[in-house]
Amino acid sequence: MADYPENSILILAEVSADGVPAKSVAQLVATAAGVGAPVVVAVVPSAAADAAATALGGLGAAHVLIAEATGETSVPSAAYADAITAAASLVQPEAVLASNTIDSRDAAARFAVRSGNALAADAVAVSRDDEGVVAHHSVYGGAYNVDSAVTFGAAVITLRAGSVDAAPAAVTPSVERIQLDATTPVVTVLSREQTETASERPELRGASRVVSGGRGLGSKEQFELVGRLADVLGAAVGASRAAVDAGYVPYAHQVGQTGVSVSPQLYVALGISGAIQHLAGMQTAKTIIVINKDGDAPIFDIADFGVVGDVFEVVPKLISAIESKRS
Ligand code: FAD
Repeated sequence: MADYPENSILILAEVSADGVPAKSVAQLVATAAGVGAPVVVAVVPSAAADAAATALGGLGAAHVLIAEATGETSVPSAAYADAITAAASLVQPEAVLASNTIDSRDAAARFAVRSGNALAADAVAVSRDDEGVVAHHSVYGGAYNVDSAVTFGAAVITLRAGSVDAAPAAVTPSVERIQLDATTPVVTVLSREQTETASERPELRGASRVVSGGRGLGSKEQFELVGRLADVLGAAVGASRAAVDAGYVPYAHQVGQTGVSVSPQLYVALGISGAIQHLAGMQTAKTIIVINKDGDAPIFDIADFGVVGDVFEVVPKLISAIESKRS
């Protein structure tokens, strides 16, 4: 059994069946490395265990615990929670970090209940003060920043995807295999189907660049301008609820309180007014660029760069300027 550092931060990594870590894992490792020693636990089929350990080391995880997935589990988060439970008893971490995805958040909550630890959900950053690990949250549509810390035990923190860009150096990790004592399921999911998306663009959740369009685009056909700018920037496509309700783009692209929360390095808002419910899902973006023909639109209040102008004039020029710089 390996010795784990006193300042271990246990990370739940979502890893595919062939051993490839989800994009969120790099962010989790970078965040953990900023406050302690990252120790990663992943549930992986035994055939992919070596590949997963190597890939996790490549992201900077010095210690990897592999919980071998034995059979079909109807609820992935139940296996994840079992894995965190087994890993935490070995590692005795100072904090547990998981992505704020549906499965990881569910697992984090299950583990928190089981272990009697506190859950700090949907953090946008994590730091350390004299007393330990502190989670930072952006709440009430971004109107308040809240810091939370636990008074006992290990904080169980889920982290919103996207806002950390540091990359720890690759290492060759120590690898330990752990057994899962499967708990009796309290929920059985009768069927679960992964929907395939045909897009070549990055997925909105966790994207490092997002270009979003609003009602100002005017129609489904004209909304394609958003996709054209997204493609030259290698960005995901987002939208306001008004654009979704008008049928310009499917709901999966909606950013905001009742859509996806994003925290990218770059967020470009085209023809979006900046309602509080939209800001709730994007205002932790690092750099925000706004193009809107109304100079008084509230979204300019949170913009780093803004252009008061018509998207149909400004965006094609922007696309040509980016393309000509590259050629
Ligand atoms: P508008 O407010 O109509 O703004 C359109 C903007 O486009 C204007 O600022 C206009 O100046 C500009 N414009 C028009 N033509 C051009 C042009 N040619 N060039 C440049 N600019 C142009 N909204 C969300 O986005 N996400 C959510 O998750 C969400 N959840 C909600 C939950 C609840 C409970 C409620 C009540 C509302 C929610 N909303 C949400 C809706 C939100 O309140 C706003 O109605 C919505 O965000 C407005 O979208 P918009 O900015 O695209 O449209």
